Amino acid sequence: MTTGIWVLGDQLWAGQTALSRCEREKRKTPVILIESRNCAQMRPYHRQKLVLIWSAMRHFAEELRSSGWQVTYEISDEFACALQQWVKNNGITQLLVMTPSDRPFIQIIQNIKLNCSLTLVPNNLFLWSPEEFKQWADSRKNLLLEDFYRTGRKRFNILMDGNKPIGGKWNFDKQNRQPPKDKLQTPPPLWFNPDEITRSVLNRIKTENISDYGEIEPFRWGVTREDALAVLEHFITQCLPTFGPYQDAMLTGEETLWHSLISPYLNLGLLTSIEIIKAVEKAYFENKIELNSIEGFIRQVLGWREYMRGIYLYQDEDYRNSNWFNHHQPLPNFYWRSSQTDMNCLYQVLTQVEKTGYAHHIQRLMILSNFALIVGVSPQEIEAWFHAAFIDAYDWIMQTNVIGMGQFADGGILASKPYASSANYINKMSDYCRYCIYNPKQRTGDKACPFNFFYWDFMLRHQQQLKSLGRMSLVLSHLQRIEPKDMEQIQVLANNWRLKQNKLIESIANDNK
Ligand SMILES: Cc1cc2nc3c(=O)[nH]c(=O)nc-3n(C[C@H](O)[C@H](O)[C@H](O)COP(=O)(O)OP(=O)(O)OC[C@H]3O[C@@H](n4cnc5c(N)ncnc54)[C@H](O)[C@@H]3O)c2cc1C
Ligand code: SF4
Repeated sequence: MTTGIWVLGDQLWAGQTALSRCEREKRKTPVILIESRNCAQMRPYHRQKLVLIWSAMRHFAEELRSSGWQVTYEISDEFACALQQWVKNNGITQLLVMTPSDRPFIQIIQNIKLNCSLTLVPNNLFLWSPEEFKQWADSRKNLLLEDFYRTGRKRFNILMDGNKPIGGKWNFDKQNRQPPKDKLQTPPPLWFNPDEITRSVLNRIKTENISDYGEIEPFRWGVTREDALAVLEHFITQCLPTFGPYQDAMLTGEETLWHSLISPYLNLGLLTSIEIIKAVEKAYFENKIELNSIEGFIRQVLGWREYMRGIYLYQDEDYRNSNWFNHHQPLPNFYWRSSQTDMNCLYQVLTQVEKTGYAHHIQRLMILSNFALIVGVSPQEIEAWFHAAFIDAYDWIMQTNVIGMGQFADGGILASKPYASSANYINKMSDYCRYCIYNPKQRTGDKACPFNFFYWDFMLRHQQQLKSLGRMSLVLSHLQRIEPKDMEQIQVLANNWRLKQNKLIESIANDNK
């Protein structure tokens, strides 16, 4: 029997299960990585994401080769032809693949006709296996993040003092939501210059015109495990001490603040969650960094990331079609072209995403997703946009973050109330409103901020459904206090805005015919 291993583009870790199972036989085990053009064109992708993945794959193939594996690197239109040929050439009888993180990809693999058997082995890029998450979830009434996170802290013995959390508290969120002050001394992020391999991928994507969303250069992301480890080290020494307090802040021209920028690497397998968590915990013990920053960060990786993945697998395939609010408004065109919006917060964040493929959590949740939610955009359209626009986007992380957390389209499986807000929150947590043509204090009139009229329009449209969520009663009571003539104006503004957008979308579609 000859076993061959297919390493997928988001499994670039020598310790992943398919590779580690054959480690002892590596000199005799054929390994393949395939750069598929059709796969890159299944949906639009940010051009920098394609550069990142293909360059990281090419570098990883080199690493495997130099450590003794028999590696084939194929640049092909599609997976099937490249695989079939390689299976034949190497007399492979069993194809070993680590189970893909994205469910649709499992189907793609299983549909490929091969003259050998296919074995999917468990994916070890997450701390909780699907079975362990199911066991946890089946034992509870509510799937609260807080409960899951505490179970994870105990299970992996992270920041624990026996059975109690270090510092006596599980949660330091109150210290971690400070609005930005005028002059924050933020650390510059660690970026990299493209090497020869990355330059050749850049050329391929430019010359073959593989995607047209997002600026392709300057491309500054790391592409190897070594780069990713340097980013982690940079984060721990330069950013972690101040990560907590300004975790939710947004400032013009500050793309990264104290955020770690590790998701692009972590999601490709260039880093593992446990090494990140352990390194951050070690920094607490050795460098005496404030616990609110340490806990706030560990909550993200040990808590949120694992929880989102667990729920993705725990829910059935239909989760992606959820639409609790029955929203069907098309996505405004400016999400694809930032220059088409006059709302400064959206302009700033969308421009940054076009340039880098990155925005931090609050920019994603409270600007990009919040706006789509209160306007009434179809959850599936905004999910498709996030998937296309972000450098770290994958199906497993999109469904729960966008459909669930951002759009509340699952009716509250993972959030207890929708993340909907008016300009008030944005004005408090950023400086965007200062440079905007709209007035964050107005909900009616010429200068009314669209976040305001859409927020109240959203509350009005869905008040019956929202009443069923206990945590919405205070906000809904404010709705009753709005004068009927103001409410009417709010609805007129919201409807006119949607009409204008729809006409624009229609005329662009006609131009493209
Ligand atoms: C609407 C929306 C879309 C999102 N899309 C993505 C996406 O495409 N890819 C992605 O990796 N994350 C996504 N997230 C989660 C989170 O915003 C990003 O992981 C984070 O902003 C990445 O930047 P960072 O590495 O600098 O994170 P940091 O702020 O430094 O946080 C550290 C790490 O915690 C993890 N993390 C934190 N929150 C989450 C979360 N909600 N879900 C999963 N992991 C989390 C990530 O691995 C992240 O790298 C999304 C969140 C929302 C609300
Ligand atoms: S005023 Fe409104 S549109 Fe302008 S930046 Fe503030 S929230 Fe955004």
